[in-house]
Amino acid sequence: MTLIGIVPSGIEGKTLSVNQDYVDAVLRAGGTPVIFPATEDPARLSALLDQVRGLLLTGGGDVDPVRYGEALLPCCGEISAIRDGMEYPLCREALSRRMPILAICRGIQLLSCVLGGTLYQDLDEQFGKTLKHPQYDRPGDPVHEVDVKPDTLLSSIVGAGSLGVNSRHHQGIRDLGEGLRVNALSPDGLIEGVELPASPFVLGVQWHPETLSPRFPAQQKIFHAFVKACEM
Ligand code: MN
Repeated sequence: MTLIGIVPSGIEGKTLSVNQDYVDAVLRAGGTPVIFPATEDPARLSALLDQVRGLLLTGGGDVDPVRYGEALLPCCGEISAIRDGMEYPLCREALSRRMPILAICRGIQLLSCVLGGTLYQDLDEQFGKTLKHPQYDRPGDPVHEVDVKPDTLLSSIVGAGSLGVNSRHHQGIRDLGEGLRVNALSPDGLIEGVELPASPFVLGVQWHPETLSPRFPAQQKIFHAFVKACEM
């Protein structure tokens, strides 16, 4: 069994939750999901990583801008200090182990920030292009396209060129984290996918393939490729 660690997508009050779509997509790919408890203790996080073969960073609230050296602006959304405190050390440790990582939505933003990148705290306020990225009312529909760059890890999975994606984000990567390479852009020029060429499988996507994957086989392929990388 290939165990895949999943960080909870919701930590609120006394409830820890994860969107079932992540779990189902990993199960369909043949992996066995393990939902991690919320802890900021590096020793415990390290012990958790000892038990799994890959790490799935999920979507959710905003990274605290103080993490990338900025003041919190009114346009920033709800931040989750608990998730930041857990995921920064977890992501760092997984990177240093060269463990496969699939980073989705908040996950791609966190991955880039951990590697020294920055975010647009709100795309409408700070990026301001014509494309509407926060489309929360259509969670499972492709609402814009991305251009997948050839000769990338992502293109080896879903093919190069146009790919329809959902879009449930009001933030995005501004300055790219160190060592990352862009593998997908939306038509307005926003970074929608990254990968880390120095590692065997570190892939980030700004959209939510777990919600599209039951209907769109190319999106499920992302989870198959991730679990396959974890099996190696
Ligand atoms: Mn988008």
